[in-house]
Amino acid sequence: MVNHTTRVAVIGAGMGGLTAAVALTRIANVQVTVFEQARKLGDVGAGVTVAPNGQRVLDKLGVLEQVKRAGATPDGHGVYQDAMGNLVAEAAWEDSAKQYRNIGMYRPDLVNVLSGEVPPGTIHLGHRLTSIQTLPTGVCLEFENGVHDEFDAVVGADGIHSVVRDSLMQPPAPVYSGFIAFRGVIDATLLPEDWPMISQVWMGEGKHFMCYPLQQRKLFNYVGFVPSDRPLKETWSAPGDVGEIAAEFAGAKWDPRLRHFISLIDKTFWWGLYDHEPLTNWSRGRVTLLGDAAHTMLPHAGQGVNQAMEDSITLAFFLREAEGPDEIAEAFKRYTAVRMQRTAILQNSSRRSGSQFDARNEFEDTEKRDADLRAGRDFRRSVLFDFDAVAAAEKALKRFRRI
Ligand SMILES: Cc1cc2nc3c(=O)[nH]c(=O)nc-3n(C[C@H](O)[C@H](O)[C@H](O)COP(=O)(O)OP(=O)(O)OC[C@H]3O[C@@H](n4cnc5c(N)ncnc54)[C@H](O)[C@@H]3O)c2cc1C
Repeated sequence: MVNHTTRVAVIGAGMGGLTAAVALTRIANVQVTVFEQARKLGDVGAGVTVAPNGQRVLDKLGVLEQVKRAGATPDGHGVYQDAMGNLVAEAAWEDSAKQYRNIGMYRPDLVNVLSGEVPPGTIHLGHRLTSIQTLPTGVCLEFENGVHDEFDAVVGADGIHSVVRDSLMQPPAPVYSGFIAFRGVIDATLLPEDWPMISQVWMGEGKHFMCYPLQQRKLFNYVGFVPSDRPLKETWSAPGDVGEIAAEFAGAKWDPRLRHFISLIDKTFWWGLYDHEPLTNWSRGRVTLLGDAAHTMLPHAGQGVNQAMEDSITLAFFLREAEGPDEIAEAFKRYTAVRMQRTAILQNSSRRSGSQFDARNEFEDTEKRDADLRAGRDFRRSVLFDFDAVAAAEKALKRFRRI
């Protein structure tokens, strides 16, 4: 068995890398070191939805209660609305057993909770990985600050620009969606008293806006998705202009409630929204990938982090099965085989959801689009929210043991 003398490096202390660090420590019982290029832990000052499928993983890892305490559970199902705020469809917000309900998390809070769950000394900040050398019995990692160290294995959780992935294969071309997202948070006490404590989406004119509560309802997250060719010329994320987001959703065609919400925004950032085509492999030898490094997806299904959580627990279950370091490569191969199809489907369906919200492609006919959104709720609940990554990993392990 691999054990606490087996040294595994995780590159990247984002939400994916940190969940992996907790899972590998608690389930695979290996010695984990996380390397992060930034000098400070954190994430952008915006929200993320931890969905029931992600929560099932956190529950297994023993961190769900801490996440719930830091986050916000809405009062009920979310709504998809037209530009004037008329109900189009209800959104899925819980699993079929009603055990887990969407939690809105302020990203820095989630990073804080997860980083507090790894053993002291696990996370090394200010370490930017520059190269990986494969050795007969492991890997040698080199960092920009001159540090180099040997490990039994390495997990690349280093996001869309992954250096680990690029050491394994020809880098996939980033695909620009044609959209940017303005995002940030507002102080929830500024909202009218009767403002619904749920997730709301307004859809119109080929763009959409969403908001939901965070941090025990003290904050409200917002994202405005608008078409743009700007990121093709500039950086992928930058401070945005509040006036610009207000102008995008201005005028009598937009719900006055939405316009009031936007008038409360005092700070915004914009992101160019990119993904890439599904990869055909995530592992080679003792090197593997996880989270956005393996499967960057558009945010429209709210699943990037949740899939990284599913990856993390699956990886930990497969690594735990390895009889010793010599079997790590096979464990990584099996982990990849189990995860790749689900994340590829989600990369595609995230694109499709974006087309739905913005009435593009096959959804230009909004009646068809609206019917599709209504029908999608049960599908989303059963395929996404009811998915149990632990049960799936255990089932796959049994199959592999018979081979
Ligand atoms: C507008 C928007 C809304 C979203 N909403 C949701 C949502 O509601 N639910 C959801 O599940 N997902 C959502 N997502 C997707 C989600 O944000 C990503 O999938 C997730 O953050 C990926 O996590 P990660 O840890 O894999 O990668 P990242 O968060 O990108 O973390 C990678 C880390 O690796 C570090 N790193 C990179 N290179 C190196 C290196 N060479 N050496 C050392 N460290 C390195 C980086 O500094 C970073 O800390 C959204 C995305 C966007 C853009």
